[in-house]
Amino acid sequence: MNSDTHPEPEQLAGFNQTPDAPEYAGLRRHLATCADCRQRLDQLNALSRSLRAAPPINKTVTLPNAVLHAIENGPLDDAQRHALSDDPAALKAALHYAAHAQAF
Ligand SMILES: [Zn+2]
Repeated sequence: MNSDTHPEPEQLAGFNQTPDAPEYAGLRRHLATCADCRQRLDQLNALSRSLRAAPPINKTVTLPNAVLHAIENGPLDDAQRHALSDDPAALKAALHYAAHAQAF
C-alpha cells in the first residue's frame, strides 16, 4: 500500500475489528504517520465500544443531519453523544454511517 493514500472507511472498520491481521500491515504503517486517520479510527472505536456495551435493538432510525455532520467532520458534542448512547438503534445507525461515510 502506498502510505500516502488514506485507507477507505471500510478498511478502517475492518482494521478496527482485527487490528493484528497481516493484511493491515500497510494500514498500521499509514496510521503511524497520519493523524487524520488515527482520529477517524478513534471515532470508529468509540462508536463500536458503545455499540458492544448496548447491543442494538432491531429498528430503523434516521439520524439528524447535525449528528451525521459531526460524525463526518468532527467530534460529537456531549448532547449528541448522550443521544446516541441512550438509543442503541441510533448508535448502530451512526456506526454504520461512520463506516461508510466518504469523508476523506
Ligand atoms: Zn490517512
